[in-house]
Amino acid sequence: MIFLDNASTTRVFDEVVKRINSTYTEDYFNPSATYDKGMAASALIECSRQTVATALNAKKSEIFFTSCATESNNWALNCAFKNKKGNAVVSAGEHACVYETAKHLKDSGYDVRFAPLNNDGSVNIDALVDLVDGKTNYVSVIHVSNETGVINDLGRISTLVKAKNPRTLIHSDGVQAFLKTDCDLRRLGVDLYSISGHKIGAPKGVGALFVKSSVHIAPYLFGGGQESGMRSGTENVGGIVGLGAAIGEFSKVYDAAKVKKLYLRLLNELNKIEGVKIIGDTERNTGLICCLSVPGVRAETLQSVMADDGVYIGRGSACSSHHSGNRVLENMGLKKDEVSGAVRISLSPLTSEEEVDTACKALCKNIKDLRGYQVG
Ligand code: PLP
Repeated sequence: MIFLDNASTTRVFDEVVKRINSTYTEDYFNPSATYDKGMAASALIECSRQTVATALNAKKSEIFFTSCATESNNWALNCAFKNKKGNAVVSAGEHACVYETAKHLKDSGYDVRFAPLNNDGSVNIDALVDLVDGKTNYVSVIHVSNETGVINDLGRISTLVKAKNPRTLIHSDGVQAFLKTDCDLRRLGVDLYSISGHKIGAPKGVGALFVKSSVHIAPYLFGGGQESGMRSGTENVGGIVGLGAAIGEFSKVYDAAKVKKLYLRLLNELNKIEGVKIIGDTERNTGLICCLSVPGVRAETLQSVMADDGVYIGRGSACSSHHSGNRVLENMGLKKDEVSGAVRISLSPLTSEEEVDTACKALCKNIKDLRGYQVG
């Protein structure tokens, strides 16, 4: 089996599984308990918090653990924007968990403006800045697109937005960016940033929200006062420990030069296949996500025949793959048949050249078969 849908989720590192298991069988105590074993569980959480903070160049007190990035993003939009008057500017390239939350707020009467994308998949910065005015208190731009791997220039966006309105908060969904491109949040000028564990070899069910210390955001869940009173609920100690451990394991295997070489090899092989169109900017890209389209071939059919060959590829965001169309690709200006023929190959730092070559051979064969079938 060759798994090339790592943007949807990843295999948990063996070392991470080991660490998590001990939190279920040995260090299973409630971190709020005031006896020594409870305090030891709490110390494990704080250790992971420091690891996340260091990876983002943040302070430990700025990191809040959540159940997933969907929660982090909902929290950010609902509690940093919703309670205030003014407007929000959100990029059209957001993952559903930001886009649908923003759309829900708009449908409920809030002033939410959507900034269009360029054909290369990046947000149109000029159009975005034009939408910002003196009443804008929130801007949300995905750091790395889960559809195309394209990196948005957060540093430039935050500088231009804050020059126009210094009170505007900059929020970014960093799920596909975390550890895969520069995530120095101080340098990028970001106020709120979401990450998810299961995209970097940690288990599903754990995420985090960075909230800059100068930013006031309302608590999301009320109750026992965990996470400094910001997100109540007994902590997912296993998940949080797993997230911290995965950061260490991912950093050991991630090699930017190796990823770039592999990505170029993939692009080179794909460009040889007749009928394939590469979607999005391949220069400003993490090199871990490649969106390609085969107009005239249905993506779900291609995905299915590839799986029959033991090669697993994606089809846009896994969470939205049951919906028809693709909001992000449509916003990039792709034609209908390009959208319906779009699949996503996403690599991991552990993907080998042989796996890429085998996958491309299978793609070539299947595309040839399907095009022949559909044309003739
Ligand atoms: N944001 C992006 C860019 C994603 O790719 C995903 C997952 O596909 C999410 C948010 C949602 O993350 P989670 O599964 O942790 O809720």
